[in-house]
Amino acid sequence: MPSSFQIGSIPCHIVSDGQQLIDGGSFFGLVPRVLWERVIRPDEKHRIPAQMRCLLVQSPAGLILVDTGQGDKITAEYRTQFGMDSSNRRLESDLSRVGFSPEDIDIVLLTHLHADHCGGNTRLSDPTDAESEVVATFPNARYLIQRLEMAEASFPNERTRTHYFSENWEPLRRSGQLEIVDGDQALAAGVRSVTVPGHTGSMQVVWVEDGGESLLFLGDACSWAAHMDRLAWVPAFDLEPMRSIEGKRNLRCQAEEKNALLVFQHDSQVVTGRLRPGPRGATVVPEITEVAWPEEGLR
Ligand SMILES: [Zn+2]
Repeated sequence: MPSSFQIGSIPCHIVSDGQQLIDGGSFFGLVPRVLWERVIRPDEKHRIPAQMRCLLVQSPAGLILVDTGQGDKITAEYRTQFGMDSSNRRLESDLSRVGFSPEDIDIVLLTHLHADHCGGNTRLSDPTDAESEVVATFPNARYLIQRLEMAEASFPNERTRTHYFSENWEPLRRSGQLEIVDGDQALAAGVRSVTVPGHTGSMQVVWVEDGGESLLFLGDACSWAAHMDRLAWVPAFDLEPMRSIEGKRNLRCQAEEKNALLVFQHDSQVVTGRLRPGPRGATVVPEITEVAWPEEGLR
């Protein structure tokens, strides 16, 4: 279910494109399972539930959606492999629960172009026909993508090519909705994006700040709360792990100073939290939580 709250006078909503089951090791990298399974229990196939949360900000400059989830163009085979159900339009139904339709979105900001963050950018014009034209899901939005991320996605290497699919952005180029940006962006009064390289070369996080309050949407700069508590815990996905650690160290300092509300994009248990002093440095104290395995049938 979506969560709604205000940061100062700016209404924000955490919406979701649902969840998928991802190999536990890929989120925890070098950390042995005996340590990470204390944080999140895997299923018999070693998979853990990973949420695909997005942030909706009712900014003074219009409605900003940060990331679009996996979307519906994925095959039945993919859904089985990654434990996804057959339902479509998951993000759209969360948007309608908070009172908006795809037509209302003014800006889509992509933290990066991995398929579980931008797959919902586009959709099949006929959902029953995999060969039908792929069109923009948000017909009135400008889609903002970092220049370096666009370059990496357009010319992937052996390691990165499994995460990038041009059907998630090429239709936007054709429709004139794709806008390439370079570096940190002021999106609206109180809303800005900051690049934090590590996961990819120009991964970006989003700050919402107003009336002395602040929110930090971390994207894959730190997608699980446990990774903020333990800086050395870095996903195997990250292209430059040492830069990820440095990025997290900086974000942790800033977030602690501002008492920012942290939003974790993939954590299936901690949706939001704030940093408080702990025995080993700043520790995330959860505010909004979810149950990772709500029904045994899911496993
Ligand atoms: Zn990613």
